[in-house]
This record gives sequence, C-alpha cells and structure tokens, in this order.
Amino acid sequence: MQGSPETPREIEIGRELFAYIKKKQSFFDLKNLFLKASTFDQKLQTQLFKFVDVLPNLKKKESIVKILSEYIDESNFKAGFLVNSFSKLPIISDVFKSLVISSVSGLARIFICGRNVEEALTTIGELKKKKQEYTLDLLGEVVLTQGESNYYYNRYRELLKGIDGANISVKLTALVPQVNPNNFDAKKEVLKERLRRLYRLAQKNNATVNVDSEHYSWHEFIFTIVKEVLSETEFKDFDRVGIVVQAYLKESEKDLDQWIAWAKTRKGKITVRLVKGAYWDYEHAHALQKGWEVPVFEDKALTDANYEKLTEKILGNIKFLRPAFASHNIRSLAYALKIIEEKKISKDDFEIQMLYGMLDNLKSYFSENGYCLRVYLPYGKLLPGMSYLVRRLLENTANDSFLKQGFIDKKSQDDLLQAPMAKAVRESAIEEKFTNSADLNFETQAMRDKFKAALLETKKKLSEEKLCPLLVNGKKKCTKESFIAVNPANKEEKLATIFKASIEECELAIAGAQEIQEKWFALGVEKRSKVLTETAKDFEEKRTYFNSILILESGKAWHEADGETSEAIDFLNYYANQALELFGENKLRSFPGEKNRNLYQALGVSLVISPWNFPLAIMLGMTVASLVSGNAVLIKPSTQTCLIAYEALSILLENIRKIAGKEYEALISLLPGSGSVIGEYLTHHEKVRCIAFTGSNATGMRINEAATKARPVKRFIAEMGGKNPIIVEKTADLDEAIPGVIYSAFGFSGQKCSACSRVIIEAEVYDEFKQRMIKAMDLVKPGDPESFEVYTGPVIDQNAYDNVHKYIDLALKEGKIVYYKESQNKQGFFVNPLIVENLIDESRITKEEIFGPVLAMYKAENLDEAIALANDTEFGLTAGLYSRSPEVIKKVTKDIQVGNFYINRPCTGAVVSRQAFGGHKNSSIGFKAGGPNYLLQFVQEKTITENTMRRGFADD
Ligand code: NAD
Repeated sequence: MQGSPETPREIEIGRELFAYIKKKQSFFDLKNLFLKASTFDQKLQTQLFKFVDVLPNLKKKESIVKILSEYIDESNFKAGFLVNSFSKLPIISDVFKSLVISSVSGLARIFICGRNVEEALTTIGELKKKKQEYTLDLLGEVVLTQGESNYYYNRYRELLKGIDGANISVKLTALVPQVNPNNFDAKKEVLKERLRRLYRLAQKNNATVNVDSEHYSWHEFIFTIVKEVLSETEFKDFDRVGIVVQAYLKESEKDLDQWIAWAKTRKGKITVRLVKGAYWDYEHAHALQKGWEVPVFEDKALTDANYEKLTEKILGNIKFLRPAFASHNIRSLAYALKIIEEKKISKDDFEIQMLYGMLDNLKSYFSENGYCLRVYLPYGKLLPGMSYLVRRLLENTANDSFLKQGFIDKKSQDDLLQAPMAKAVRESAIEEKFTNSADLNFETQAMRDKFKAALLETKKKLSEEKLCPLLVNGKKKCTKESFIAVNPANKEEKLATIFKASIEECELAIAGAQEIQEKWFALGVEKRSKVLTETAKDFEEKRTYFNSILILESGKAWHEADGETSEAIDFLNYYANQALELFGENKLRSFPGEKNRNLYQALGVSLVISPWNFPLAIMLGMTVASLVSGNAVLIKPSTQTCLIAYEALSILLENIRKIAGKEYEALISLLPGSGSVIGEYLTHHEKVRCIAFTGSNATGMRINEAATKARPVKRFIAEMGGKNPIIVEKTADLDEAIPGVIYSAFGFSGQKCSACSRVIIEAEVYDEFKQRMIKAMDLVKPGDPESFEVYTGPVIDQNAYDNVHKYIDLALKEGKIVYYKESQNKQGFFVNPLIVENLIDESRITKEEIFGPVLAMYKAENLDEAIALANDTEFGLTAGLYSRSPEVIKKVTKDIQVGNFYINRPCTGAVVSRQAFGGHKNSSIGFKAGGPNYLLQFVQEKTITENTMRRGFADD
C-alpha cells in the first residue's frame, strides 16, 4: 500500500479494499425470500423479523400461516389476507409451511455455521483451508434455570476439551441463571468459579476464552469478574484470554483506559476485541424509560469516531494488548490499517474479526494478504437461534449502518470512506412541563455501596426511642396510647414508638382544618402548587432516607422502595402541574348579554385513608391531590406504616409553613389509629366532605355505603383490590413470560394491588411453561430485604402471615401444589411462594384477593376460554398478556375487562403520567390516580351565569 500527499492514507486503503471486493454486492445471499422482501420495505422488514422471532414457537402449520399473515398485515404491505386465504387449502398450506420453514432456516444458515459441534467443525475445517481463524459462539438467549445454565457451561467445557486449541466466546450470563443487576453480589462467586474452571481447561488444552460483552447494565460486573479472576496467581501469565470494548458506550474510553492500566500490571497480554455494540435500541430505550443518562452515543457517527479514537489508543499499547478489530465498516478497518502502517506494527500482533455470513469477499482480502482474520461463528439450533439472528439483521439493516448504506442504499464509495461526522444536535422543540423522577441506578457498584451506607445509617437512628407523634394543627402530639413499630423481616427489631389519635384529637384536627381551608383555597393555585414542587425537591434530597424507611418498615426490596419514592415525587410534581392547567381557566361559552363562568371550588375538609403496601406514594398522592385542589386534609395512615407517613407529612407541613405561612399549619393533620375506631369515626364525621381511600374491597365498600348515606352526601374516591390475571398465549416468548409472571406474582411477596394472582396458560404451551417456571422459581427465595440481592421480602405482619397461611391450607385441599416449600425463617413474617393448579371450580383461591405470594395456574384450551377465565372475577384492576400474535393482542385488548392492561411485560409497576392507574368493576370508584382527570374529583364546579344586558344595552 502506498500513500499520496493529497489523499488521506485511510481513504486510499479504503479504496483498495473496495477495489478488492470489486463490484458492490449484497452482503448476504439475496436469494432468500425473507431478505428479498425486507430490502424494499422497511416496515415489512420489521414485521418479517418479528415473525422470524416467534416462528420457533409455532408448532402447527396453521399457526405459521396465520401469524405470518398477521405480521404482513401489520406492515403497509396489505397482503396478509392473500397469504391467509390462499394457504388455507390443505395441500398449499403444507407446501407453504415447508416453504416458510426452509426459507427461514435458509436465512439462519447464512449466519449460523452449524446446528451442532460436528457441523461447526466442518465449517472450521473450511475456514482453515482459506487460512481463516475462528471463535465459536454457542447460541442461546435468556438462561432462567440452573439446568439451562449447566447446559451452557457443560457445552463450553466440551468445546475446550474436545477441540484442539479451541477459541470460544463465552457469555457470562449463560453460566448462572437469571443473573441481573439485582443479584450481582449473590451470583458473583459462583460465576467467578465457573469462569476460573473454564480458564483452567483452556490453559490445559491450549485453548482461548473470550468473554463477550452484553447489555450495559452488566458491563461493570463483567469487567470486575474477569479482572478479579485473571488477577489470581494461577492466571497471571495466561494470555489466551479476551475481552470486549464496545465503542458505542460513552464510557468505553474510560473502560479501555482501565483495561490498559490493569494489563500493564500482568505478564500475559489480553486480547481486546473492539466492537461498536449490538444492543443500541435496547440501551437507548431502557435509559430513556428509566430517566437515566443514555449510555450509548445517540449519533452513529460519534460511535464511528470513537471507534477510531479507541483504535489509536489500543494500537498505542500493543505491548500489553492484542487488538482485534471487529467491524464490517471499511472506513473503520482502513483507519486501523493506517495506524498499524504508521506504527509499523507486525501482522502477527493484531487481528481482524468479522461475523460468519457477512462480507466474505472482504474476509478473503485479509486472509489472502497475510493478516489474521478471525470469523465469529455462532452455532446452535437453527430456529431457536433466530433471536440472535434477528438482532444481527436488525442491526445490520438499521438505517445508518455501514452495510445498509453501502450495499442496499448504494452510497458512493468515497462518501462511505469520509471521516465520521456527527449530525447537528437536535434541539428538543417542546420543553416538557413534567418529567418523571429517575430511580437510583443500582446497576453500579458505587451506587449500591452508597445506598447500603445510607440504609445502615438510618437503621442506627431507629429504635423504640424514636418517637412518632401525631400532627394536629401543626403541633406534634404524643398521646396516652401508643405501640411499637417493628421490622417485618425481623420481629425483634424495634423501629419507633407510634402514638395513636383519640376522638379528641380528631375533633381538634377537624376544627383546625375547617378554619383554615377557605383561606387556603383563596390563596390561589400557584402558591398551592409551589408547596408541592418544593416538597418534591426535599424528597429528592432525602430519597435514600425514605427508601431506607420503606425497606425497614414495610419490607420492600431496594428497587421497590426506590420506585415508590420516585412515585411519591412524581405525584407531587404531576399534580402541581395539573392543578395549574386545570384550575385556571373558564371553559364555558358566553354570548352577547350573557356571561358564563365555570369555577372549580374546593370541597372543604377531606379525609385520606391509606394502605400499608404503598405507604408513602399512595398516602402522599391522595393527600397532595386534595391539598392542591384547595382542601384541608386529615390523614389516617395504615397502622402498620405510620413512621413513613410521619416523616413524609412533616416535610410537607414544613413547606406549607415556608410557602404559605405558619397560620396554615392546621391544613394537614396526621391521625394514626385503628381503622375500626378512628377510621370509622372520621368517615362518618359530618364535616368531612370528601374521602379518598385506597385499601381492600371490604373496607372500601363499607365506606362507600357510609358516604352515600351521609347528608350532605360525601364525595368518595376509592382504589381497591384486584384478582389480576396474566394470559400466556401460545405464541408467547416464554423467556420473557416466565420472569414476567414470577415478578408480577411474587415481587414484594404478592402484596401489590396490581400483583398477578392468576396465570392462565394456553394448553399448547402449558407443560413447557409450568416445567420451566418451577425450575426458575428456585431462585426466588424470600429474605431480609436489607440485602440488595433479596428478590422478595416478608409479608407485613402476623395477621397477613396467618391469613396467607389459611389460603395455603385451602390450596393443599382444593388443588394440586405445583411449587411450595414452607419457610423455615421464623425471624420475620416470611411466607414462601406457592403455585397451585387444578383448583376446584368454587375454590376461594380463584375468587378472593389473597395479598400474599400465592399464584393459581389455569390451563385454557383456547384464547376465548382464557379471556373468559380472566374476566370471571368481581375485580378489574390489572391484567397482562404475553403473545406475539398481532391479532391476539388486538382481541384481548378489546375484550379484557380491566383498567390497566399490560402487553408483553409484567402487570405491576405503573408510573405516574405514563400508566394512569385504576380499575374497572369492584376495583375502583372514580378516575385514575396519576392520570389527567384525578384532581377533578377533589373539587366541585360552580357555574355563574350573569345577564349583562341593561335596558337593551349589552356591555360586551
Ligand atoms: P385495608 O382495607 O385493611 O386498610 C386500608 C385502610 O383503611 C387502612 O388505613 C385501615 O386502617 C383503614 N380502615 C380499615 N377499616 C376501616 C374502617 N372500618 N373505616 C375506615 N377506615 C378503615 O387494606 P390494607 O390491608 O391496608 O391494604 C391492602 C389492600 O389495599 C388490598 O386490598 C389492595 O388491593 C388494596 N390496594 C389497592 C390499590 C389500588 O390502587 N387499587 C393500591 C394499594 C392497595
């Protein structure tokens, strides 16, 4: 290769590479039906790839035809009905099925080198003839059970033992089941041991082990594991090891610097495979949904530019690293070759890597010119391997990918070789008035360490000595009657002394509230809103304190507690913003001589009755919705969770004083006490004009009756229980459905109103679902949620414990237990998860809300039966569906009778302003919480009509 002064050297090299591969050609075999269809219509392409993803699940030929036609119909390409009607003829449908399977398998064969090791070895033999190297990747996706992880681990071992000098690429998440950011600490040692054993085998058999990169949330974890194991004495000199740096990560330069610094401390070199990264869509969406900084560059050109920067850095450290440039972008490779040339680096000291099935001509350029060219070789079952494949295809046909631009859009060669240029940053046109509060990112070790320290600090401050008085007319009051709040995960651990209100304090609070309420309303919506937004700021600051109390008082796992604090902050900001929009304007028509105004007026004194299961967010949400609408509020929290109520309301009260003035401090009063005494008294009080309640159906209905009978009638808003179903339809992705159902049913020990208590599975996948679910369940062990890795904690108290056990006894009698082991942990109120099937028709387990970790499983012969079962309940709160059939999704969406319906995701975890929350039937009365209409329930309208005509003269 020779340079010329006016053309940059990398462009010359790039042209040479282009010249070699001669004419522009497709990067894969376009004879394939699916690829052909996908190249001319982007939407059709996406739909076909979605079909490819579900195909391995479709057992019957009719399903293949039906689902394919549904996906085609979803695109602009309206031909699905043709496929459907044409292929209904029996002979044609057989032919059609074979055509589809062979076409998709054909597609799989382009990118998957073999169905098993034997076939992979044949491919390896062919590559050897072409002087090309390989690294083997065992296909597979989510590993849910111990058995599944053993399978992958043993296959890796076989490869290392069975193939002389094998080179394998390992996914750490395949070595232990269900590894995720919540259980890193718990899985770390097992994972390290498995990796250690693989390295030992590789040392013995002259083999190489590369650890693949995965999602961003794992990258710090993978980094730590690999580094710790390779730092052990027995591996200090071991150099047949590789890791991956993903250039699309904003942190990748920092990652690389750390690898370099570490590599300098050891004797053996490590291979650094530099890739751009294959999970861009996921990383982008995941971060936006969480309100976190997006970890990947949002402009592809920035990734390309970063790739070049990292290329230089790696090549500058060639003494410690063996670079592997993995890319199909000719510009990126040409740039690497330029630096290699400048630095006179030997061809033995680096390698180029490309995927099997991609750009074979370019591969031979390298292998024929004495470079080390390594092919990344996925192998495994063709149809199940498709999810890997689909990702590859989507990535490589994404609009800004080099392959798409070069080989489908046919961009000019010189355009493709230009240095990557970032597009101008798009300014966001609309500034959003409300944004959700971001959860803490426990995916980083630094955050986990910081929070653990905060939790221990809070724990130290709590004991019997911590007093939790009433708040009455702005004054703290310790009454005669009190009790001790304990940690439900550890009955011995005393958290605070809680004081109970008597009728006397209730009367005082009502009188104070009544006196100040009108003045508060007259103060105006801006000031009222400001109280909420300032409180939100304080909450954000005290987030770790609130999280800690939620963990200790209500037994929530870390992320559940943190999610609840975010929700509380969201309620504050969302309702503050809603109030400004709703309560300011006149919406009625006026005419000459007739002036009409519509005013929203507060109701007066309202009462909030809250449950223990969302003791911060729901208690505060109802309180501030009422407050910002101009009411004074009495709060009767659940007796189990008075501490968090006290801490939260103290801050709210402080902001009322600060923003409105001290004279307003009677606006909110905290009145702990039992439901049957204080609750009953307040709900029947004539001065209480509005009751916002969240709790069980039994209590809610009782209060509803009292509210309706009262004169003047009381406004009653209620969020109540559920008996929430998830339907698993036959096209469901079980890799997602199983963890989704487990989380929905057993997260927070099934104590969410939205928790799944019935899973209805279509017969065709029932056994498979059940078997995998049972194995996956072994990993859900309740424990003290003080530890980060605990999936689910205790139930709230002795009553709940006894109550759930009554249902467990019933399950033993009225059904067949699928999964249950009695808890031996008597330190707290621990109940292990139970799954039951074959329940008798009239079983109470099918009908009643249990509020504990009990899940009933039902087999439905078909979709209609599944929907009928799902709707066969007095409740209508949430429901879920796992399906990959567009028609099924449409049908269930239409027919399911619930307020919140979730498709292909867990049925819990509503977020303010995104999933307005509330149910149908006996689950709710009123508009949804966290939605656009909620505040309207806390006001009454006054319409004023004035005749402005005076003796025939209209003043307007
Ligand atoms: P619960 O009905 O026992 O108690 C709720 C509140 O009502 C408590 O503060 C309690 O002291 C009070 N109360 C009890 N009896 C009363 C009476 N006679 N008069 C006035 N107040 C009385 O419910 P819980 O066990 O605290 O909470 C769990 C229930 O809440 C479940 O049924 C769950 O589904 C429901 N919940 C619903 C939602 C939702 O948004 N739909 C959210 C959370 C909880």
